[in-house]
Amino acid sequence: MLRLISTLTLALFLGTLTTAQNRATFTVGSATAARGQRATGTIEVPAGSDAALSIPVAVFHGAKLGPVLAIVAGSHGTEYTSIIALEKLIGTLNPAEISGTVIIVPLINIQSFEQKVPHLNPVDKKSMNRWYPGKMDGTQTDRASYLITKQVVEQCDHLIDLHGGDTDESLRPYSYWTKTGSEKQDQISREMVLAFGLDHIIISADRPKDPQASRYLENTATTRGKPSITAEAGHAGTVETDNLNALINGCLHVMRYLKMISGSPSMVEHPVCIEKVVSLPK
Ligand SMILES: [Zn+2]
Repeated sequence: MLRLISTLTLALFLGTLTTAQNRATFTVGSATAARGQRATGTIEVPAGSDAALSIPVAVFHGAKLGPVLAIVAGSHGTEYTSIIALEKLIGTLNPAEISGTVIIVPLINIQSFEQKVPHLNPVDKKSMNRWYPGKMDGTQTDRASYLITKQVVEQCDHLIDLHGGDTDESLRPYSYWTKTGSEKQDQISREMVLAFGLDHIIISADRPKDPQASRYLENTATTRGKPSITAEAGHAGTVETDNLNALINGCLHVMRYLKMISGSPSMVEHPVCIEKVVSLPK
């Protein structure tokens, strides 16, 4: 019964989402994919008070209609597991087998990756997951955040933001589930997080509610009414097979839950849910 109700909720919810689903072609940045095709390109962030930035993007415009799922990693460019997971996913997905559209942005923070700088964009010393929805008259992180909001978040129905434990972070795999207060939206994002498959889930009820001050990428999607999640696996600059597979398979399971590819996800049955997170003083 529970499964029937949740399937119905998903169907009703997806039924209300017409965003971009009927397009003959789908464009993100310089990547335009015809139906049943894959395209790669870049989101070009123009120079402003500091340097320009080219953010790579891949678009899989499925052969059949369905929701638009954005999967993003590398806002922290030394969280290698999440970046490599999306590189592998780009090589794995077949648009002929997809119902709907998948937007993959594997690495936002290019200079962090190239210079091996954890946490921040070395160009402007900002975390690239704290300045959403961004603005065009700010520094590189602001401009990149604005264009990702416009081209990725606003064009998708669901978003997964992947992280991978930074070079100075030792952590176990876990997901974030954001409670927005919208029952229908929260049920779908909850089922996305259970389908993703990580058995520790941090419940965030204190994220900003104002879409104009959303700060985080996932929060930029949730405050715009799109059921979305964040997942994290990896630690301390390592790329271990188990963590890599957890992120790749997690994305594929969410696609199965959203009926974008065949098969059914095995939902986590007894997750450890963490409702209170405390930062200890150093
Ligand atoms: Zn991160």
